[in-house]
Amino acid sequence: MLNVGSCIPPFPSRKSNNGNPIPRRHQDLLAQVSASLRHPQGLCRGIALPRPLVTMSLHFQLNYRSQQNDCMPAEKVFEAQLGQGENRWKVVPPIMEELKTKARSLGLWNLFLTKEYPEGAGLSNLEYALMAEVMGRSLHIASEACNCSAPDTGNMEVFAKYGTPAQKEKWLKPLLDGKIRSAFAMTEKKVASSDATNIETSIQRVGNEYVINGLKWWISGAGDPRCAVYLVMGKSDPKNKEKHRQQSLIIVPADTPGITVVRPMTVFGYDDAPEGHCEILFKDVRVPVENMVLGESRGFEVIQGRLGPGRIHHCMRCIGVAERALDLLLARVTDPSRRTFGKLLAEHGTVVADIAKSRMDIDQARFLVLNAAKRIDEVKAKGAMKEIGMAKAVVPTMLLTVLDRAMQAHGAGGVSQDFILARSYAQARTLRYADGPDEVHIAQIGKVELRRAAEVTKSLEKQRERSYALITGKAKL
Ligand SMILES: Cc1cc2nc3c(=O)[nH]c(=O)nc-3n(C[C@H](O)[C@H](O)[C@H](O)COP(=O)(O)OP(=O)(O)OC[C@H]3O[C@@H](n4cnc5c(N)ncnc54)[C@H](O)[C@@H]3O)c2cc1C
Repeated sequence: MLNVGSCIPPFPSRKSNNGNPIPRRHQDLLAQVSASLRHPQGLCRGIALPRPLVTMSLHFQLNYRSQQNDCMPAEKVFEAQLGQGENRWKVVPPIMEELKTKARSLGLWNLFLTKEYPEGAGLSNLEYALMAEVMGRSLHIASEACNCSAPDTGNMEVFAKYGTPAQKEKWLKPLLDGKIRSAFAMTEKKVASSDATNIETSIQRVGNEYVINGLKWWISGAGDPRCAVYLVMGKSDPKNKEKHRQQSLIIVPADTPGITVVRPMTVFGYDDAPEGHCEILFKDVRVPVENMVLGESRGFEVIQGRLGPGRIHHCMRCIGVAERALDLLLARVTDPSRRTFGKLLAEHGTVVADIAKSRMDIDQARFLVLNAAKRIDEVKAKGAMKEIGMAKAVVPTMLLTVLDRAMQAHGAGGVSQDFILARSYAQARTLRYADGPDEVHIAQIGKVELRRAAEVTKSLEKQRERSYALITGKAKL
């Protein structure tokens, strides 16, 4: 077990950060977090951090320094080391292993696995939210370097939460060690998969084995040569009257006969190699009965447990991407070599307004994310579905808007390969579907709000009666 606190070297001062001072707003955020420890109302109403973590603050600084000095500069190296053609799916850029070794030596490892898991780093979800924001700044690099990237994080949570000792030994251990990678296979090409009851892949028991048949697509991570295992969602009891008990989740080693990775999908032309998002055919794939997760017909239960905190992880990282986009925007519009109509771009009112709107959008969205993380800490993901849904429905769109403004300020360069903006935009757009489309979350939030309708109506009725009584003199104040 990794005890993060014990791995932290003494850290003298926030100002002396190897030539990379923590930006003012991050210092402010830390100060707010520290203040929230002293004030019951916390950062905002309802947000008060659960424990004073000096190590958290040190972690935050280490994390920040690591992204600034190592991960962001490594992005171009990663691209350059990626193979070409078929090799894009065979070569893992060596820089990634170097970054992983360094991150691990700093204690920046498996931070996502919160304190209820003995295998994790001991942070709360709220604390992890701040860390993930910083990791989010460097595209996918930092989260993988810190062994905190999707889909492994969600899959590790499944193994940690529901796995048998043998399943944990075989899959969780090497995943936690960063030795293998994994994929989560739910979405299917032929059915509308945002309603998971539509899933058609069959999981049939035959003797001591399950036989799996189906066609999945958009399976992230399946292109990676290190991807050793899939968690596959399918129907083991399609005739069950309870629609949510027809499904099971089963562990399928990636090298099992009968599996064909048909092709990688692209997102606006990006293939996201070497992980990729793949179409996969399962034809008479056989695995032992011990590979069932939690038990037959309990697939929905497992995916609900998996998707809660995972949905928020994406949102946390999105805040970091948005901060980086705003940084790029600020640098671009104050670049003295880029003047229009006799002025710096930053001297045009519309540009200033874009900066202000971006700052407001980011800070509002951050509140939703921290609030959701805090609720998960308090009542677990199941009790925090409304807060998770609000963050999930708001944050990707916020990020798209902020990225769009940053791209606009960069002119044509904004949509090119020279900046991270276009690629980040493509990734952010997918988050309006991944882990459930916006509409599904919005519908859920609406339903939860509607539950208050009867009570609100009653209260309004009482107000009206009281008002009538006051007007007619039948009652006094
Ligand atoms: C880059 C990327 C990576 C992905 N990675 C994975 C992965 O690793 N594993 C995996 O299993 N899947 C993955 N997915 C798939 C993703 O989870 C699905 O795309 C998503 O669940 C939606 O399913 P669908 O594409 O079948 O859309 P559909 O279910 O066909 O929905 C289409 C549209 O219908 C609308 N809609 C749906 N429900 C409602 C509603 N209740 N009210 C109003 N409108 C509604 C929404 O606008 C929605 O976008 C990934 C997708 C992308 C783009």
